[in-house]
Amino acid sequence: MLLSLTFSLYQWYCIVDFKNEDRFQTSFIQAKSHRKKVLVNFSSFKFHPQIAASVKALGYHTPTPIQLRAIPPVLEGHDVMGLAQTGTGKTAAFVLPILERLLRGPRGKVRALIVAPTRELAEQIHVAITRLGHGTHLRSCTIYGGVGLNPQIQKLRVGVDIVVACPGRLLDHINQMTIDLSSVEVLVLDEADRMFDMGFLPDVRRIIKHLPAKRQNLMFSATMADDIRKLAHEVLHKPVTVQVGHSVPANSVSHALYPVEQHLKTGLLMEILKHTDTESILIFTRTKHRAKRIGQQLEKAGYKAASLQGNLSQNKRQAALDGFRDGRYQILVATDIAARGIDVSSISHVINYDIPDTTDAYTHRIGRTGRAAKTGDAFTFVTPEDESLVRSIERILGEKIERRTLKQFDYRKPAPARDTEFARRPHEPQQRRTQPKREHTGSAARTGARSISSVAPKHHHAAPRGPQAAQHSPGTRTFKPRRPKTRAGS
Ligand code: AMP
Repeated sequence: MLLSLTFSLYQWYCIVDFKNEDRFQTSFIQAKSHRKKVLVNFSSFKFHPQIAASVKALGYHTPTPIQLRAIPPVLEGHDVMGLAQTGTGKTAAFVLPILERLLRGPRGKVRALIVAPTRELAEQIHVAITRLGHGTHLRSCTIYGGVGLNPQIQKLRVGVDIVVACPGRLLDHINQMTIDLSSVEVLVLDEADRMFDMGFLPDVRRIIKHLPAKRQNLMFSATMADDIRKLAHEVLHKPVTVQVGHSVPANSVSHALYPVEQHLKTGLLMEILKHTDTESILIFTRTKHRAKRIGQQLEKAGYKAASLQGNLSQNKRQAALDGFRDGRYQILVATDIAARGIDVSSISHVINYDIPDTTDAYTHRIGRTGRAAKTGDAFTFVTPEDESLVRSIERILGEKIERRTLKQFDYRKPAPARDTEFARRPHEPQQRRTQPKREHTGSAARTGARSISSVAPKHHHAAPRGPQAAQHSPGTRTFKPRRPKTRAGS
C-alpha cells in the first residue's frame, strides 16, 4: 500500500525538471493533490528492518534523487534504465532493492549478478553490498582478473547470493563451468557507457546468453550513446527510465580555469600545489605517458604521489589505491579510464592538467570531488586551443568559470626549441568506435584494469616522441531513450 503510494508520488516527481538540481539535496516531493511539501525519507520505501538499520547506520537520511526515482520501480520488479553519473548514490539505488528481494527465497545461489567495467568499481559495489546488507547474512563476492581463479572458485562453491563481476573473468568462470548462473533473478549492468568504452559489450552479450530468460534487468550509464541505447533495447524489457539531470557537475564543486601555454603547465602545477591548501588531489592527463611522467616529476619534487599506468600486478595497483585512500599518497595522477571507479571521499581538488575532450568527461572527472555533499575544487589548465570546449562546459554549468592567473608565476618563459611531449598538445584521443587496445591477453586485460605505481624517476630528461597511447571519454550526446518493443538477448 505504502509502496504503491510512494510509486505514484515518484511518477509525479519524475515529470519535474531536475536538470540543475543538487545531487544530494533533500528530496522533497510536492504531492499533486495537496500541493503540500512531503519530505521523503528512507522509511517511505518500507525496507526490511535489517536493511533500514544499515541505511541508518551509514548516515543516509534522505534518498538522493536517483534513489528516490529508481528504488520504487526496482522494488516493483520493473526493468530500469538509470541515467546517473558516479557520485549520485546510484549504487545504493540498485543494491537496496536487490537486498530486499533476496531476503526472501533460497540462500547460497547466485540470484543477483552485477557486471561492472573495472575491478575498483566491482570492489566498491561489493563494499556497498556488505555495508548495506550488514546483518542480512546475504553473501556477495567479486570476480575479476589479475588475481587467482581458485579463491573465487572456493567462494562460489561455498555459496554466494550476489556476484559482482568484471566481464572477462566472469566469462572465464562461465567457460570453465565454475559458476552457476541458472538462478539469476536480477542482472545489473553498471556504468554501461564505460563498459562500451573499454570494449566489453561483446563479452556482456555473451554473458547474457548464459542467464535465465526471465529476470529483472537494471542498467546504469552516465551517458547514452547509440551503442548503449542499442544494448538497452536488447536487454531491458519495458524499462522505466530514470534520469538525474544530464551530466551536470555537482554544485558543491567550485570551478576555476588557469589559462596557460602548453609548455608551462608543469611549472604552473607545481606553483599551485605550493600555494594551495589541499587534502587529496586527483590530477587528470590526456595520455597514460603524461600521467606517468607527471607522477615522477611530483615525486622528484618531494610530493607523495602515485600515477595510474599499465602493467603492474593487482597487488601493487591495489596498494597504491589504498595508499591514496588512506592518505599515504596525497596526489594521484591518472587518465580518465584509469581513474574510473576510484571512490575516495576526501578528494579536495581535481586538477585537469589537460582539459578533457568532452563535457561529459569533465563531469565524470569533477564527480571525483565534492562527493556526497562535501565541497571540492576543480582547476582546469586551458590553452588557447581549448576555448570552444571551455564554452561548452560553461554552457553545461550555466555560468562563466572564473579565470585565474598566479601573480608570482612567470608566464613569459619561452617554449623549448625542441618539440617535447610537454611543449605541445597531447595527441588526440581515439575515436569512440575504436576499441581501446588491451594491455595483455587473458582475463586480467579484459577486466579493463590499469595499474598504478608510485614511481621513482629514472629518466627525467627523456620526453619521448611518437604516438602515445591515447584514451577517450564518452560522447556528449543527449538522448531520449525509446521503449524497446521486444525483449531480445534475454
Ligand atoms: P555512488 O554514486 O553510488 O558511488 O555514491 C557516492 C557516495 O554517496 C558514496 O560514498 C555513498 O556512500 C554516498 N551515498 C549514497 N547514498 C547516500 C545518501 N542517501 N545519503 C548520503 N550519502 C549517500
